[in-house]
Amino acid sequence: MIKSYYDILNVKENATKQEIKNQFKKLVKMYHPDVNSSLEAEEIFKEINKAAEILLDDLKRKNYDSLRAINKNIYRKNSNINASEYSFYDLFKKPKKEEKKPEIKPQKGQDITVNVEIDYTEAILGTQRSINISRSSICPKCQGHKFANGQKCAYCDGLGEKTVNKKITVKIPKGLKNGTKLRIKGEGQEGRFGGQNGNLYVVVNVIKNDELNIKDDIVYYNASISPYTAVLGGNINVPTLWGEAIIKIPPLTKANQSFKLIDVGVLNEKTGKKGEQIVKIIIQIPKELSSQEFALYEKLRDLNMKKTNAKTIY
Ligand SMILES: [Zn+2]
Repeated sequence: MIKSYYDILNVKENATKQEIKNQFKKLVKMYHPDVNSSLEAEEIFKEINKAAEILLDDLKRKNYDSLRAINKNIYRKNSNINASEYSFYDLFKKPKKEEKKPEIKPQKGQDITVNVEIDYTEAILGTQRSINISRSSICPKCQGHKFANGQKCAYCDGLGEKTVNKKITVKIPKGLKNGTKLRIKGEGQEGRFGGQNGNLYVVVNVIKNDELNIKDDIVYYNASISPYTAVLGGNINVPTLWGEAIIKIPPLTKANQSFKLIDVGVLNEKTGKKGEQIVKIIIQIPKELSSQEFALYEKLRDLNMKKTNAKTIY
């Protein structure tokens, strides 16, 4: 419904120029921007001025009246509503001019990447790691508005978001190659405005086992034994990918002698069988010996010399 200029100024259609002028002055006092700073007042003030400009000019008013008479007739033919029932004050009910709202688009959360180290045994058997990630969440107290109850939100210190630490247990499947990137969906930074969460990426670095070396799927291990074990033989414990194994060292084992263990090496996924482990013997001379031990070694030496001398004589 379009309001007439008479409606806007709230005067009768047959009002005199003076009546219109008086009413205009009255309205200006109410809606002048210096007096009333509301958005509605600004709109009304514009309309008042426009209406006064027409109705206080004899020629313009005459033209306006004749145009209106024609329009009114057309309007009445199409509707039962009487246009004059609308008053100037309906302006207040007019919906506010639509303000341009900043467009809010869903925002996807950022991805988080973390590195984890596992050793070869874990790579073969599969393992898991607990990962601590910190990510920012919308403050639950102020819902990201930064203010609560008219004051700066104390919970998030007015940031609108809060850093939350989360522990995530990541399952690392067996048989992973060095540098494999695992994706844990939705465990990255939080999405905003209905956007999806980012992902968590876990880069798995397979580090060398301190003791076990693997080459071409064969496991190598150097076992240090004492001189007397080498001479007398005995059982020694040897680490494997699958736990400790016991090897029986025969008497008079030489330095650098190798033993082959079967069914303790790298698992062949196709055959389901485990491979070999080669154990090389290192004879380790003790760093310190007691005088008694030295005496025994001397005795050994003397015995050995006698044996050699006897051989020479005969
Ligand atoms: Zn807050």
